[in-house]
Amino acid sequence: MRRLFSFTSVGVVVAALGGAWVGYAGRPASRIMILDVGQGDATLIQSDGRTLLIDTGPNSDNRLARKLRSLRVATLDGIFLTHPDLDHINGTAAIAEEFPDAPVLISAAFRTHPELASALRLWKLQDRVRWVSDRGTLQMGTARLEVYVPAWMPGTPDNDGSMLTRFCVADACFVNSGDASTALEPTITDELKWTANLVKAGHHGSRTSTSDALLQGLGATDVAISCGRNNRFRHPHPEVLERVNAAGLKVHRTDESGTITFEIRSGRWQRVN
Ligand SMILES: [Zn+2]
Repeated sequence: MRRLFSFTSVGVVVAALGGAWVGYAGRPASRIMILDVGQGDATLIQSDGRTLLIDTGPNSDNRLARKLRSLRVATLDGIFLTHPDLDHINGTAAIAEEFPDAPVLISAAFRTHPELASALRLWKLQDRVRWVSDRGTLQMGTARLEVYVPAWMPGTPDNDGSMLTRFCVADACFVNSGDASTALEPTITDELKWTANLVKAGHHGSRTSTSDALLQGLGATDVAISCGRNNRFRHPHPEVLERVNAAGLKVHRTDESGTITFEIRSGRWQRVN
């Protein structure tokens, strides 16, 4: 197995890259796919011959694994779980079985989360988990994944413990904040000072995420929303769509379009399907 991750004593993600660039004819060097998993999240990131999955969607069967196979994903270099809600982690057992070499990366703040602990036991995945604390950067050749793990206390909402990630190839960047609410968004813009032209709306387009301040701070041009068709939460919320439209940003919804693919055009992430 190619070794992609190693950890310092404080759990910062660092790169330990071996192997050469794996180019493959007819396919782009870098792409982001907001996968259509219904009401939930699963995002595929590919660059420089590496493939990462952020969240595994709401379905416990192997349909996401089959989807990845149909996309000719041969190996997964990391399965990141933003937070322990089932619409983000329920596909983990099936994915881990299909890709047995892939480490599962979860915020160390959730180490004592009771439901997560029982799920990992049930799925026999305790030994596959790399607990991530603090922040770090994973280099993937020309690309990099920045990871930030917020503080989280048991008994408080899981959403605001969501692992924050920014994936950049040169200046083309994408931010995924899981189900983080507006309470956590200043961390992205003010503390991390992340910018990105593409952002996935927080919490499936819920009204409690994706503030004006976030959109402006990032300098976003495109907003992807992962939500199920006619979902019972009525995501995305009209207020979010209003905010995004008023800011003149492009909206891309999985409930309307299915899986959405972005590649780099003119130095920024642009939708290609
Ligand atoms: Zn969610």
